[in-house]
Amino acid sequence: MENTPGVTTSTRMPVPDTMKAWVIGDPDELVQVEKPVPVPSRAEILIRIDAVAICATDLEIIHYGTPALIEGGSPFNKNFTPGHEYMGTVAALGEGVDEFAIGDRVTVEIHAGCGQCKRCRQGMYTSCLNYGLNYGDVKKGHRANGFTTDGGFTEYAVNHINTVIKVPDTMSDEEATLVVTAGTSMYGLTELGGLVAGESVVVMGPGPIGLLAVAVAKSLGAAPVILTGTRDSRLKIGKELGADHVINVKDTDVVGKVKDIAGQQGVDYVVECAGTETAINDAIHMTNRGGKICFAAFPHDPATIDLPHVVKNNMYMYGIRGEGKSATHRAMAFMAEKRFDASLIHTHTFALDDLPEALRYARERVDDAIKVVVRARDAEQQLKAVSK
Ligand SMILES: [Zn+2]
Ligand SMILES: [Zn+2]
Repeated sequence: MENTPGVTTSTRMPVPDTMKAWVIGDPDELVQVEKPVPVPSRAEILIRIDAVAICATDLEIIHYGTPALIEGGSPFNKNFTPGHEYMGTVAALGEGVDEFAIGDRVTVEIHAGCGQCKRCRQGMYTSCLNYGLNYGDVKKGHRANGFTTDGGFTEYAVNHINTVIKVPDTMSDEEATLVVTAGTSMYGLTELGGLVAGESVVVMGPGPIGLLAVAVAKSLGAAPVILTGTRDSRLKIGKELGADHVINVKDTDVVGKVKDIAGQQGVDYVVECAGTETAINDAIHMTNRGGKICFAAFPHDPATIDLPHVVKNNMYMYGIRGEGKSATHRAMAFMAEKRFDASLIHTHTFALDDLPEALRYARERVDDAIKVVVRARDAEQQLKAVSK
């Protein structure tokens, strides 16, 4: 690394030649291997990974393969490292980088678009038209770490500087891994128009994105903010994050209950994070005329929906993927100001070597797990590194 032309390193943070990395073998099989530490190119930095959060999408990728796309196909047996919600410390700078310094604590967003397609130029880099086209002779410059390029269940990763955000000293490593989740929630509200102050919002589904959508909607001034779900323990966290009302949808007319709270015309916005056919139709029926619905869950199956109701009532529907339009920067602004405590959804921490067990906690929701974080180095090492 030290002798690579254009790359800046520091003796304060020596970079090894190789690193431990988890890679996907067959479906549901993770193996720890030794890989070369990646070298940052122009406008890229090398990040020493300190902590990574596990996302439901990681579990999808490790089991089904999609939505990861490696060399034009499935990610199995391609020496591919998943993991996309990581934070760490800048360890080397690629050519032309003066936006960051070695030693900066940073967190990342996932998608670095190609920067040259129509969608990237519109700020919609999570919908890059050259998604995954960076293999063989094709070099579109697209990266989505943990999806189309190597991710964070390892010790080092390369990121385009457009996907990197500085972490304030007041924020813990674990909380910093949650910024991209809050960024996804923020992107959903951005696509709905963003100006939700004084308007009614329902969030359906208290998973990590739903819970932080409650927090972001409340911080943006929405009122009332209503959260629906099936587990009281999650709904309780939703209240702590700012929900004015929570509704347990089990054995309940959820549309009727929402209207009892917000008025018979329904609500202005729904952020749908449950992904079932019932939830999708409930979303349609609780939205008012001219209202907007954001679909943020990845459903597995096609759904039959009440489209006549949508058309007759001039509703708007948006599908969102990921964290576009720099929403992660806006989410960080809220979190840096402590507008809400995202760490309420962080429930467990494991060492990087124990990743399979950490994934099991996330998959089986052992001990009510919500966000499980994996640490590449322990807290003590961390302190030593900072005090040097
Ligand atoms: Zn994720
Ligand atoms: Zn693009």
